[in-house]
Amino acid sequence: MGDVSTTFDVLIIGAGPSGASAAVHAARAGLQTLLIDASVFPRDKTCGDGLTPRAIHQLDLLGVGDQVTSSYSNKGLKLHGFGGSVEAPWPDTYVTNRGSAMARSAFDDLLFRLAQSYAEVTTWENASAENAVLDGNDLKAVVVNHGGVEKTVSAKFVIVADGVRSPFGKKLGRVWHRNEVYGIAARAYCETPLSDEPWIHSHVELRDEEGTVQPGYGWIFPLGNGSVNVGCGALSTDKRPAKINTKKLLSFYASQRRQAWQLGPEHDVASALLPMGGAVSNVAGKNWMLIGDAAACVNPLNGEGIDYGLETAAMAVETITANQKRDLTLVWPHVLRDAYGETFMLARTAARLLTYPQFLPLAGPLAFRGPLQKAIMPAAARLMGNLITEEDRDILAQAWGAAGSAISWARKGSPLWDSTL
Ligand SMILES: Cc1cc2nc3c(=O)[nH]c(=O)nc-3n(C[C@H](O)[C@H](O)[C@H](O)COP(=O)(O)OP(=O)(O)OC[C@H]3O[C@@H](n4cnc5c(N)ncnc54)[C@H](O)[C@@H]3O)c2cc1C
Repeated sequence: MGDVSTTFDVLIIGAGPSGASAAVHAARAGLQTLLIDASVFPRDKTCGDGLTPRAIHQLDLLGVGDQVTSSYSNKGLKLHGFGGSVEAPWPDTYVTNRGSAMARSAFDDLLFRLAQSYAEVTTWENASAENAVLDGNDLKAVVVNHGGVEKTVSAKFVIVADGVRSPFGKKLGRVWHRNEVYGIAARAYCETPLSDEPWIHSHVELRDEEGTVQPGYGWIFPLGNGSVNVGCGALSTDKRPAKINTKKLLSFYASQRRQAWQLGPEHDVASALLPMGGAVSNVAGKNWMLIGDAAACVNPLNGEGIDYGLETAAMAVETITANQKRDLTLVWPHVLRDAYGETFMLARTAARLLTYPQFLPLAGPLAFRGPLQKAIMPAAARLMGNLITEEDRDILAQAWGAAGSAISWARKGSPLWDSTL
């Protein structure tokens, strides 16, 4: 054990959007909180930087929505491919119809500083959670390397928000199921005079240099600061791995968009993997829980996770405050399944379909140009934007034919935050 010992109500490991917002919620609930991160802020994070109205709503609740949207805001998504285009404004039926995009170095710094502004929150940067002191699934203490000094921290509850690879989550038994659909994606920044364009753009006909359609999409997200985030992502499973080099594909995709968007050269190119749709197990123990990317809370159809990170942060603090004396091992997976189980299963089933090489070349032209276009595409665009309405649910369920039975089929063998401890 380390030479310094400290005790808090809540220890939060990872200060990305999930961890930083969890710290704000914990502080507001009056909990003495320690928020630690292995990096020093501001730091970059490989991302598309897109913020749907769902994310903006959470930012409004945190009190920083206007600060984000005042630098840039967008009104919806334009989806392109297979000879067609469809425009899907963010729905008026949702609590807000403001969307945005902000480079993660600035966005994460803003949330980290917000957390720091609360007297209840202590922050440690350059502080990596290295070891778990466990008694069964009760996390008694966490050994942290803080700038070279080993410190032992105990807390009544530990929220693990350590991102997609979840190194600390792994020490607690987190298992990622790679046989489920996951994403591989790359992003870059390009300068452009068109960075105030008020729509985000996605291209679902994503072809490689040989002309083969890949199971994924390319995006251009304007940032309102003289640049855009340009990227592409593809879906993969162990059985049908996407055979692509994402950085090469990104460069080819950017070259196709260059003229229309007057793009400068790509810079800060980076790629990453994305576990999705809750395809991890062991997300909670007696006094700890995984949130955000660590819990694979990423939409399998569009790769978005900031909104889920912010939402799961709020839900985690609510769960802690409502269950001060109860074991979280079963409670937390239940909360996640209740909130996202159906949507993630449906999206995972649809995403799995996309990984069949025959599917997109057949379905794409039908959806964009055929008789289904009017009915399905605006709903599909909202699905890509993470904002399906009740009406969309029906349309999409019909479009997928027996979606209900597809979901129950998918549910049978599919892990969804299950606990095997
Ligand atoms: C290419 C790409 C494009 C994407 N585009 C979008 C998009 O446009 N919109 C969207 O909503 N989502 C997008 N996502 C997903 C989004 O990036 C994630 O869902 C989001 O970052 C999750 O936030 P988080 O706080 O859970 O994790 P992170 O943002 O990854 O934060 C985790 C933090 O934990 C810290 N950490 C890790 N290990 C330790 C440790 N042992 N001790 C202490 N600290 C530790 C890290 O330093 C990091 O700061 C994209 C992802 C990729 C890869």
